[in-house]
Amino acid sequence: MSINPSQQRSPGIPCPRCGFFIEMSVQSLLYQASFQCPGCLLTLSMDRNQSRPALEILQKINKEMENIEKHKHFDL
Ligand SMILES: [Zn+2]
Repeated sequence: MSINPSQQRSPGIPCPRCGFFIEMSVQSLLYQASFQCPGCLLTLSMDRNQSRPALEILQKINKEMENIEKHKHFDL
């Protein structure tokens, strides 16, 4: 699987069934229990207990991103 750097702006995963890229923001990953593929309407559900370590990492990233948003005052 090759990743095009220009497409890395929106986080997400390719649909396991049809390969359609399902966008998942950090927020939706944290608070949404399931995702639907817009391509084939497959529903992906998250096992919150199993993905707990990953969710904790995401929570950290989410906080970092909020901090970046707050400090995003560039003098260009
Ligand atoms: Zn799909």
